[in-house]
Amino acid sequence: MISAEKRERLQQNWQQVVDEVHAAAIASGRSPDAVRIVGIAKYVDAETTAALCQAGCRHLGESRPQVLWQKAESGAIPADVHWHLVGHLQRNKIRRTLRFRPVIHSVDSGRLLQAVAEEAQRQQVEIETLLEVNISGEEAKTGMAADDLPLILQRLPAAGVRVVGLMAMAGWNLPAEEAREQFAAVRRLRDQLTQQIGCYLPELSMGMSGDFAEAIAEGATIVRIGSRLFEGVRDE
Ligand SMILES: *Cc1c(COP(=O)(O)O)cnc(C)c1O
Repeated sequence: MISAEKRERLQQNWQQVVDEVHAAAIASGRSPDAVRIVGIAKYVDAETTAALCQAGCRHLGESRPQVLWQKAESGAIPADVHWHLVGHLQRNKIRRTLRFRPVIHSVDSGRLLQAVAEEAQRQQVEIETLLEVNISGEEAKTGMAADDLPLILQRLPAAGVRVVGLMAMAGWNLPAEEAREQFAAVRRLRDQLTQQIGCYLPELSMGMSGDFAEAIAEGATIVRIGSRLFEGVRDE
């Protein structure tokens, strides 16, 4: 069982992050409601994840499909929570993952998008997706090259998925100014794709515990925050 002390700490962490996200939005002249917080719960078990929901988090993210299934099927998590998948989705895991109607941030190929669309049509659902772009250029980072995106956006599946935006991560351990420059590059890429192809890509999923203020300053509409929420809560 999660102790009362840890539960309280989790509530404080959540409120602190909410306050900082709101302050960052206001500081860049945006509405505090313009930025959604996805709590990345990959560090903790289902019970602690449920406690995060009780603290007020409505959007939960996982990086591994199997963990998302386990938690969603555990019965511990409130049914009205929205799931987000932020890590790689293997094709043989699409069917079970779509049962939970997650927003998929980590679409990293045109083939994956097509496969998700086919399964979504079979399940008669529409899945929100984001295209993951490797903006840092680091080999180790996941995501597609910016050059791959136009073709995918020109050949969108007719049904089953909606591509609502782009997801990106800044390079490892970058100074804040350089991270901010990469987030700005994601925004410019989005603007350019919108102009070239005429696609509507309102969502920018960028910013994590260490750099969400910079991401919000550059237009993030979704921040994916994990470790900050669980400080003093998980066993280190
Ligand atoms: C783990 C993870 C996050 C959260 O990172 P923190 O630094 O713990 O906030 C965000 N996005 C993705 C894709 C992740 O894998």
